[in-house]
Amino acid sequence: MDGHDHSGVFHTHAPVGKMKQAFIFTLVILVVEFSGGLISHSLALLSDAGHVLTDLAAIGLSWYAINQSNKPPTENLTYGYHRTGILAALINGIALIFIAIVIIIEAYHRLLQPEPVHSLWMIVSAGIGLSINLYLGLGLRGEENLNVRSAVLHMLGDAAASAGVILGAVLILYTKWYLVDPILSVLISLLIALGAWHIVKQAINILMEGAPKGISLSTVATAIRQIQGVYDVHDLHIWSITSGKNALSCHVVLDGTLSIRDSQAILRNIEHELIHLGIGHSTIQMEDAGHPHPDSVLCADDASHQGHGHCQ
Ligand SMILES: [Zn+2]
Ligand SMILES: [Zn+2]
Ligand SMILES: [Zn+2]
Ligand SMILES: [Zn+2]
Repeated sequence: MDGHDHSGVFHTHAPVGKMKQAFIFTLVILVVEFSGGLISHSLALLSDAGHVLTDLAAIGLSWYAINQSNKPPTENLTYGYHRTGILAALINGIALIFIAIVIIIEAYHRLLQPEPVHSLWMIVSAGIGLSINLYLGLGLRGEENLNVRSAVLHMLGDAAASAGVILGAVLILYTKWYLVDPILSVLISLLIALGAWHIVKQAINILMEGAPKGISLSTVATAIRQIQGVYDVHDLHIWSITSGKNALSCHVVLDGTLSIRDSQAILRNIEHELIHLGIGHSTIQMEDAGHPHPDSVLCADDASHQGHGHCQ
């Protein structure tokens, strides 16, 4: 086996120090935009604050998830506490969709009956949000880490939303056309709902034991079959314990006359190949061609075939 580094397979989180900084700055934006929204009576600013709340929750969640992951497994929770983050993300996503709906209903009322807003307060609050997002986003520019890069993109998107609120406020300042405010809030709410739907979908896929994004069952089966000494693979399961922590179980058919030591060498090669495919936790059952269950790659553990490896 080659001796290169595989430590990135499980640990893909952003550095904790930068998360703390982002959390504090995002909290500042939330306070400024929420109080600005109340003072100026601007729904657009309040919905932007709603979005910032989701950002804060997302940062807090991954922070919390890192701490939870450090907790050791127990005899009852043998995988540890990894999925608390997934459960929290699911609740967070559903709450966000609810927030978006509430804002859209309020925007509908204001479209029918426009209410005056104080555009100067909107400009000041959104301006603070814009500057902080630009500062954070541009400060992290040039990082190669994929997570950090998507975070930068997100911050620049947030800066664009704040810029939209400022433009709307300027428009209101000169035209007194108050409909701009509810229209902006609907647009921002749709963005919130879209992001939340993404979170909910990912969380449900993990809870349903779905194959992790970017990992295909047939690719993995082919990769295992290509390893020298492997005749076939069946009853293949691939799932995520939590986002980025992937697990696999399968049966592998080998020559029945191999010694345990020889089959273990093949096992190490399979495990190594799986790590390269992003799967760090594997459970592999070795068998010879005389195994008593179907050769199907997909699980055949149904009512007609109760339990793996038991002839009824
Ligand atoms: Zn955001
Ligand atoms: Zn089997
Ligand atoms: Zn390797
Ligand atoms: Zn199975």
